[in-house]
Amino acid sequence: MHSLYIHVPFCRRRCSYCDFNTYAGQEHLQAAYVAALVREIGLLAVAAGEALPVHTVYFGGGTPSLLSPRQIAQVLEAVARHFALTADAEISLEANPGTLAPAYLKALRQAGVNRLSLGVQSAHPADLHLLERDHDFLTVIRTVAWARQAGFDNLNLDLMLGLPQQPLERWQRTVELALDLAPEHFSLYALTLEHGTPLAHWVDRGLVPAPDPDLAAEMYLWADERLRQAGFRQYEISNWARPGMVCRHNLQYWRNQPYLGLGAGAHGYAGGFRTVNALTPGAYIRRLEDAAPWKPSMASPSPA
Ligand code: SF4
Repeated sequence: MHSLYIHVPFCRRRCSYCDFNTYAGQEHLQAAYVAALVREIGLLAVAAGEALPVHTVYFGGGTPSLLSPRQIAQVLEAVARHFALTADAEISLEANPGTLAPAYLKALRQAGVNRLSLGVQSAHPADLHLLERDHDFLTVIRTVAWARQAGFDNLNLDLMLGLPQQPLERWQRTVELALDLAPEHFSLYALTLEHGTPLAHWVDRGLVPAPDPDLAAEMYLWADERLRQAGFRQYEISNWARPGMVCRHNLQYWRNQPYLGLGAGAHGYAGGFRTVNALTPGAYIRRLEDAAPWKPSMASPSPA
């Protein structure tokens, strides 16, 4: 069984801690980018020489929820055309709470997305301000309600721990408020200060105190215990799920099983090779426009 990772490298703006391959102010490229994704899907299928069985598809970013439901559907239709998508395939999409509305969520569900991953990060305004997130927790509460109404029964919430000036009690409050939303899955990430990000710069200049790794460890252990009490099971370093609700796409990576990486800067691993695509949306689109019908140089394989 294979998995597909589909990278969507667009964001409304950059968060202070983020060094992901994503770009603000490039929305004008979205339509061409989706066309390139559809083309890459077709080319990969030709290269594979058969309709590979696929049991998970993951739209990651960036902010995939900046694409329209029609654009998501176009990509999924191409996947279904060129791969043997299993009937029970897990189709996940990462979303920022501030980008979603009830009609959008309904259309997304109708397009075939059946697992939603919300970048909540914190329930506290001071944390969200420091991270430069563009939502508040009230928006998260509303979004979860809308997602349930739209038919999503598999929700993940991303939370971040070990933030500068984040006391243990504030982290505990975030976890409790997130538990009140009754998701099926949690991803908890300790903050890493990434070189070149505004947050790392602020810490270097003494404008913001450095995160405390011992406190972050305490937060992690407390959360593990609390989630366990609430009926979640940890199945990977950063992931906890209710019984039967583990993310199959996460497990694919964890078990070193094959996945194809599509989109700008996406990494893949299949047939004993690791691949990485052209980094920027513009370069990626140009490569796909030039790639006819199949040029192995489009992705750069290197031995795993
Ligand atoms: S929304 Fe996510 S991908 Fe985009 S800048 Fe913020 S953290 Fe990075």
